[in-house]
Amino acid sequence: MPVYEFRCIDCGETFDKLYRQMISAQGAEAPPCPACGSVNTSRLVSSFAVHGPAGIDPGQVAAEQKQAQRAASVTSKEQINKWRSAKK
Ligand SMILES: [Zn+2]
Repeated sequence: MPVYEFRCIDCGETFDKLYRQMISAQGAEAPPCPACGSVNTSRLVSSFAVHGPAGIDPGQVAAEQKQAQRAASVTSKEQINKWRSAKK
């Protein structure tokens, strides 16, 4: 079952939610924030996706892209997979 990561736009909390089936990028209803109860949450995209939806912190996206690019340029595929799994 896929796990998706969400971020609360109001308080910045990040949390995971398990779905019984795959959801599309725009198709899922936003789950409420476990920290403050706000439904103003946004699904986080993969670190390897370049264009994030509105609501994602640009600084965080840039940092993740930089990290991904560095990993891709200096590490093997095996190490990238290790890095990806370490993020879970
Ligand atoms: Zn919140």
